[in-house]
Amino acid sequence: MKIDAANIRSDFPFFNQRERLKNIIYFDNAATTQKPHTVIDTISQFYSSYNSNVNRGSYLVANEATESFELTRQKIKKHLNAKHLEEIIFTSGATQSINLVASSFVSTFLSKGDEILIGKLEHHANIVPWQLACEKIGAKVRSLGLSKNGLIDVSNLKKNISPNVKLIVFQHTSNVTGLTNDVKNIAKICKENNIYSFVDGAQAIAHENINVQELGCDFFCFSGHKCFGPTGTGVLYGKIKILNSMPPYMGGGEMIESVSLENSSWNSLPHKLEAGTPNIAGFIGLGSAFSYMNNIGIEKIKNIESVLANELYVELSKVKNIIFYGEKGSVPICSFNIKGIHSYDIGAILSEQGVCVRTGHLCAQPATSFFKTNSFIRASLCFYNTKEEIHNFINCLNKAIKMLS
Ligand code: PMP
Repeated sequence: MKIDAANIRSDFPFFNQRERLKNIIYFDNAATTQKPHTVIDTISQFYSSYNSNVNRGSYLVANEATESFELTRQKIKKHLNAKHLEEIIFTSGATQSINLVASSFVSTFLSKGDEILIGKLEHHANIVPWQLACEKIGAKVRSLGLSKNGLIDVSNLKKNISPNVKLIVFQHTSNVTGLTNDVKNIAKICKENNIYSFVDGAQAIAHENINVQELGCDFFCFSGHKCFGPTGTGVLYGKIKILNSMPPYMGGGEMIESVSLENSSWNSLPHKLEAGTPNIAGFIGLGSAFSYMNNIGIEKIKNIESVLANELYVELSKVKNIIFYGEKGSVPICSFNIKGIHSYDIGAILSEQGVCVRTGHLCAQPATSFFKTNSFIRASLCFYNTKEEIHNFINCLNKAIKMLS
């Protein structure tokens, strides 16, 4: 099916609620994206026509379910350009992917006194699991040097590296600034120094072309709901050699080869790391979300979004007393404040006018101290947003500022 770019918005039932949400401006795509009807229909079709468990039964509908579910793994392998299908592990989201590696990898590959480097702009999901894992084995989380925009300072990265550093974890694209790290060079420096690299791709997957072999990172993860798929789905990519050496994260059905009361042995990848019944409908829906994105084409998405990112930044720059956090990038995510007015007050008045933006610490509290603020206002757009919405948003913002000044 070919998608008509001009009519992209009509693919999303959320935007077709003319009566209830007539004037809504949805600028909170970094929190979660809306779903195209193809994703919604795929899920509904699964439940109404071939609902059964996967990788277990051998009857007709069970085979259909398994085939559709595993087709998503193939689509994602292709999308990420992973070398092996077994490198694609299904999880419940980026958070679970990170916890899986923090728990299973750290306990095996790191020991007492080792260090993990983490930057101050990371999402809490990419900080806390590593802290918990380090606590268990006596390893340490150490701060990574960032540039004034909050990106990893690649030119000074080597200076940050001591022989104790075993892992560097970092985001591909920031959920605060929308700026993108130089993943390829960071992963290269890691490799040259025998350090593992973990990339949180939660904010990149809907906006960038991801090629894990070209990036050269050891791990990459994302959530399905941030790229037009269902909540409760996520992916962990890991190099096969490392995944094979990691112990299971959770025990249960499907992850075993054999079980006795005395001991058990493990299934091969990816099943070893996927205990229990997965979110079957969700992953079948996620496959549909990837087909949708690829039908538009990542290059086309990038073109539309860089125009929106530019327009957003230019129009916001005209707003009196604006403070930006980070400079303009190509992903349309922008965090700011208005001098002298609390972000929550602006957020509340924007909400009354139908504008959905995020306010607060954005699940990135260290980022607030990095940028010397206590909270942000974040507008995050994606390809189905429009220039007209940006102009209406600016009008609503100016109205809010006038009321609060
Ligand atoms: N990392 C980043 C950069 C994020 O923006 C988010 C979600 N806001 C996460 C991780 C966690 O994603 P999830 O809650 O879907 O697991």
